[in-house]
Amino acid sequence: MFEKVLIANRGEIALRVLRACRELGIRTVAVHSEADTEAKYVKLADESVCIGPPPSAQSYLNIPAIISAAEVTDSEAIHPGYGFLSENADFAERVEKSGFVFIGPRPETIRLMGDKVSAKEAMKVAGVPCVPGSEGALPDDPKEIAIIARAVGYPVIIKAAGGGGGRGMRVVHTEAALINAVNLTRSEAQAAFGNPVVYLEKFLEDPRHIEIQVMADTYKNAVWLGERDCSMQRRHQKVIEEAPAPAVNRRLIGRIGDRCAEACRKMGYRGAGTFEFLYEGGEFYFIEMNTRLQVEHPVTELTTGIDIVQAQIRVAAGEKLWLRQRDIVTMGHAIECRINAEDPFKFTPSPGKITTWHPPGGPGIRVDSHAYAGYTVPPHYDSMIGKVIAFGDTRDQAIRRMRIALSEMMVDGIKTNIPLHQELMRDERFVKGGTSIHYLEEKLAARNEVAKGS
Ligand code: ADP
Repeated sequence: MFEKVLIANRGEIALRVLRACRELGIRTVAVHSEADTEAKYVKLADESVCIGPPPSAQSYLNIPAIISAAEVTDSEAIHPGYGFLSENADFAERVEKSGFVFIGPRPETIRLMGDKVSAKEAMKVAGVPCVPGSEGALPDDPKEIAIIARAVGYPVIIKAAGGGGGRGMRVVHTEAALINAVNLTRSEAQAAFGNPVVYLEKFLEDPRHIEIQVMADTYKNAVWLGERDCSMQRRHQKVIEEAPAPAVNRRLIGRIGDRCAEACRKMGYRGAGTFEFLYEGGEFYFIEMNTRLQVEHPVTELTTGIDIVQAQIRVAAGEKLWLRQRDIVTMGHAIECRINAEDPFKFTPSPGKITTWHPPGGPGIRVDSHAYAGYTVPPHYDSMIGKVIAFGDTRDQAIRRMRIALSEMMVDGIKTNIPLHQELMRDERFVKGGTSIHYLEEKLAARNEVAKGS
């Protein structure tokens, strides 16, 4: 096992990784920007290194600064968390070339999966069902593009091969709008991701977002750890996640999960990963793979009893996977609410000093957060300040526990989206289960209409 791991991230996930390391008896190095110097999790680490000023481009994305922090602290491995450099193949490569272990997949795999066109190609080969669409990248010729779109059938969605974070996508309903949309997406993709390649997919009108968690070692052993339903989204960003996905045929999920594990073996995947699917009309369609730990990993941890972060570290240290597929039993139901420092109605960020922080507790409640009373949420980063996760024997019990947890939770000094979560935990359609990826946006739009009318 490693003696010392550097955590190249911040906030709740830095604390989560730190806890996993401590349990494994590994010493930790926290790297932080000037905005996070006073954060409690930085103090909890065995060592800390300031890697730059607040803007992430100069700190959490500063590859040379992170590598030299690993060098001066004699770290052996680097955990990238999620976001920031976690899916940056160049970073993973630099880490390994500098003699450290990257706690994640091989750089080649990150590169392959980071390009959505090549990822889809690899999945097709592995027998994982994909959204119907163009065979690879779209050509330049407008006539050829129109033929492809017609064959797929409108509406279609134009997507950037290098896209991420819900950006670089455009829905097209008619042929008249097609070429303009392709050109716009191309130039946006070039500007945002430095890659103008776009492809086309059938736009599924009312799907759910269901994803499969996998874990693989360096010896081509791979298992899948159940699925998560992340359909509650706003602007393609997940708000609530749960495991298992309500009302989906277990046998079908089993087949998809086995395909994902098989795909991992085929590509020599290493570490934790997530295959994201859209689910509509009883069918699964692969959209992309995330080659890292996900924000929503706790719902899988609670339903499988497996510590995913520790597993990542153990396989990165060269341990052979100790789990076989038949050892993995999912039990009960878990729901996660992402707590954001933002206005619960307007969604504007609400950074600032937290004056009161009273997290909930009790049976089946887990809170992953780096926040505390007196902590100042910096304005420079993502607004998520923590996650409340409720576990129960049934979905119904998990929802009831979540309602109690949210009602106990007190945060003053900043605004949070807790009121939105409270509303959603009482929402009839959510309580029933199985809402589509558009449900939350539609509900919010209706809420705005009511507000305007009154
Ligand atoms: P990103 O990498 O930016 O997260 P994804 O490919 O995972 O992009 O897509 C993000 C979200 O966009 C999905 O969860 C879904 O809401 C929507 N989306 C993507 N592809 C399609 C599609 N073919 N049809 C309908 N919605 C889609």
